[in-house]
Amino acid sequence: MIPKSHPRYESLVLRDKMVKASQEGYLADSALIAHGRGEAFDYLIGEKTTYPAKRAMYVAVAALLLSSNPVISVNGNATALAIDEIIELANAVKAKIEINLFYRTDERVKIITRLYKDHGYKNILGTLDDDIEYIDDIKNNRATASKTGIYSADTILIPLEDGDRAEILKNAGKNIITIDLNPLSRTSKMSDVSIMDNIVRAIPFMTKIAEDLKTQDKKVLMDIVNDFDNEENLKESLEQIRMKE
Ligand code: ATP
Repeated sequence: MIPKSHPRYESLVLRDKMVKASQEGYLADSALIAHGRGEAFDYLIGEKTTYPAKRAMYVAVAALLLSSNPVISVNGNATALAIDEIIELANAVKAKIEINLFYRTDERVKIITRLYKDHGYKNILGTLDDDIEYIDDIKNNRATASKTGIYSADTILIPLEDGDRAEILKNAGKNIITIDLNPLSRTSKMSDVSIMDNIVRAIPFMTKIAEDLKTQDKKVLMDIVNDFDNEENLKESLEQIRMKE
């Protein structure tokens, strides 16, 4: 039991969740390393949501609300850290949820499928019995997607994604939004909207934004999206790290 008064309480709670998920068998070994990289960047921004991240979140939610087939792509890390929050966001923006794993095994897919169902989300995509296609006919594990989900999606939220997958989605003409604490990652650089924040803070914040933006005119949402420059926003995100020196 970690005492709440511990200066690294939040961070240690997240570590505990990751260790538990690893023991439950739905994380690849490298998942803990990816988490550690995220932790390091979170430390550098003071473990707080920055202004550029908030701005990117408004744009991301506006884009999701404007889309005809938005999908949230989930892996083991995202599930371990924010399963209920992801389900809430999906409901708020009417997005589907699809499992996509870097090291996909039947066992991991089975466990993650069951977790979403146990948490009340019945229509999870990317499962073992889903209709899986290769994006742009690329015969590579990272190019697989559910036919009614990512394969036909216009906008995809890819939290904690690797650069190869992001590149395939980008080349396929998808509008991609990432949540990635590393503003220098290939995924952050390649995305249309990059949110440099911890998934555990970003997802609930985006659900709140969705409640607000849902009632706005389409024109307002389009203006929010069109006024945004991801490259500029990433520069400002990096600046936030320098400012903490
Ligand atoms: P790329 O291939 O895009 O250059 P990478 O090699 O860092 O990135 P991975 O290690 O597969 O790719 O991706 C994990 C990414 O997720 C890392 O950039 C890490 O900073 C980020 N990350 C880890 N934990 C979190 C978290 N809790 N919230 C947000 N981002 C996180």
